[in-house]
This record gives sequence, C-alpha cells and structure tokens, in this order.
Amino acid sequence: MSRKPITVTQPYLPPLEEFIPYLEQIWASKTLTNNGPFHRQLEQALCEHFGVEHLALFANGTIALITALQALRISGEVITTPYSFVATSHSLLWNTITPVFVDIDPERMSLDPARIEAAITPRTTAIMPVHCYGYPCDVERIERIADTYGLKVIYDAAHAFGVRYRGESLLRHGDLSILSFHATKVFNTFEGGAIVCPDAKTKQRIDFLKNFGFADEVTVMAPGINGKMNEFQAALGLLQLQRVDAAIARRREIDAAYREALNGLPGITLPSPPPDTEHNAAYFPILVEPDYRLTRDQLYQRFRDENILVRRYFYPLISDMPMYRGLPSAAPERLPLARSSAERILCLPIYPDLAVDDHQRVIDIIRAG
Ligand SMILES: *Cc1c(COP(=O)(O)O)cnc(C)c1O
Repeated sequence: MSRKPITVTQPYLPPLEEFIPYLEQIWASKTLTNNGPFHRQLEQALCEHFGVEHLALFANGTIALITALQALRISGEVITTPYSFVATSHSLLWNTITPVFVDIDPERMSLDPARIEAAITPRTTAIMPVHCYGYPCDVERIERIADTYGLKVIYDAAHAFGVRYRGESLLRHGDLSILSFHATKVFNTFEGGAIVCPDAKTKQRIDFLKNFGFADEVTVMAPGINGKMNEFQAALGLLQLQRVDAAIARRREIDAAYREALNGLPGITLPSPPPDTEHNAAYFPILVEPDYRLTRDQLYQRFRDENILVRRYFYPLISDMPMYRGLPSAAPERLPLARSSAERILCLPIYPDLAVDDHQRVIDIIRAG
C-alpha cells in the first residue's frame, strides 16, 4: 500500500530550527547530563505548569515507577489494576513486590475503590492505581481507604499530563505520581518521565536514588539506579512545553468531533472522563458491544486492512501474562469487568496532526461496520 499508515498516535515535535539554539547551548557548555541547566529549568517549568511544589525528572517513566516504590520503601503486597500497560506491574516485580490485582470500575476504567478493602492483607503496604486514558481515578475514595489502613498511594499518571480534576492538578493526589514523556504520550522528550512529590525531603531522596544513591561525593545512601534525564531531553522538554496546551486543545477538538460523529451509534459505547475533569484527550477509547455488526477483533482487522493501526489498549490484561497469571489475584473469575473491557476496547487515532480526511476515514469505517 502506498499511503503511510495512520497510527493511533504520532509523536508531537516542535519545528527543528527552534531546537537548534538549545543544541548550540549544550555543545558550548559541554554539560550533557547530571542535573544540568536545562534539567533544572524543566523541573521548575513543569512545577509551575502543573501547580505542584516538587518534581524529579527521569530518563523514562518505568525507572520513575521503580524508583518511586523504593523512595517510599514499599514492600510486601501492592494493590493494583490489571487494566494498564505492563510497566505498572513490572515496576512491582522489579522491587520483588507481589502485585495484588483488583477489578476495575467500568466507568472510570481504573481500580475500583469498592473492591480495595477486601484485597488488603497484613502484607499490603501501598495502592498503585492508574489514571487510565487520563481519566481521574476516584482519588478521594482511594485516599480515604489508604488513610484508614495506613497505606501509601502511588499513582501511575503516565496518561495524565495536564489533567485537572475538581479545579486542581490531578498530580497533587496521592503520595507520589509518576509521569511518562515517552514519544507516544501527550508530552514527549523522546523518552522521559518524572515523579511528582509533595515535599522537599522526598524529592531529595528520589534525586539520590536516580543517581546511583549518591548523597554526596563519598556517601552512597542506597543501591540507586541511573535514572537521570539528560540535557538533550530536558531542552526538548522546555521547547515542547511551550506548545503542549495548544496540542491538548487540538486533541480535544478531535475528541469532540469523534463524539459528535459516533454518539448513539448502535453497538458502540463511548467512555468519557468523570465530571469535573479538564481532560487531555490523550486517547480515544471506544467499546465495541455485542450488538455491533462486527466483533471487536473484526473491526480491528477492518482498520488494519485499511492501513489504520488502531490499538487494543489494554488487551491482554496484565494478569493474563505469563509472569502474573499464577498469582491468586490474577484468577479470571476475580477480574470480570477488566476482562470485559479488554475484550471490547479499541483506541482510535488521536494526535494534533491527524489530518481531517484521515479522521473522517476512521469515522466512516466505524459507521459502515
Ligand atoms: C507509557 C506508560 C508507562 C511507561 O512509561 P515509559 O516512559 O515508556 O517507561 C507506564 N505506565 C503506563 C500506564 C504507560 O502508559
């Protein structure tokens, strides 16, 4: 096929010529990494952008997740969702923590607070929910349970860049929130990530841990890792940040156009963020119901045949993967709602540069069935 495939997302990039002056500065200073000037500026700029006090940049979101668990000394069992990208649970295994899967709330598509308490044992130390598709979790209920049982809450907020909930940044919730700046995300630094944390002491511990555990030239406080973001990534981030609001606004227009075209279509359900959410339109999920003319996988294949690479985020469930499926909490009968979503889900193309006629082709395929 001659046409380029339409992908579910496309990396957002600034005009190359605007990046050149940043590169010249890096070449002139020869400061390439280790908390350089762009790194410091981006941490500051992101704090201001989100309205949070402290943030630590990382080489990627997965190392940030792994480090967040170490920063709070999480061990034993952690309650989490099977309906996510594998990195969420992998970060637990990398810390020899046992994931305890709990079913999802099918409205928010994230960890159901009503099912958390039944999963708590004497070994439980934390809850790791995911703001799936950037839809806020039921943060108040989750945090009330955490307070009652003395548990930490670490949000995987990889989808939630720029999301505001009930008038404030969603990232202000929980003990820590983790962002990903991977190429496919709303805001990218090619690869990258961050931990948002509420106090300077925790931020300092995180900064030590991401630099091998060095507290000073001769003191190593823990077996830390190399999780540092470099100056190239940080400089790009500063430039990306200038346009991210416009990029999100464009995503929201595409989201609105999809909703107008697909709302009420028999057999198609359109999930949406909970009330009081200023959404980032990071994803456009649809649920293909049994009364649609095609099965989900037939519709998926219809798109593939047209060179439109829609994705089944999230299928299969993490709890079905070989390294997790033996866990008692991974038993299929315990996770019927997550499974039902995984079997119906399809994420449609959404990104700022999505061409109008490509957008229309996607809509036409769904309407034609
Ligand atoms: C992208 C993503 C991650 C991993 O982030 P990386 O920056 O790619 O390491 C973790 N969790 C979720 C939910 C993600 O979507």
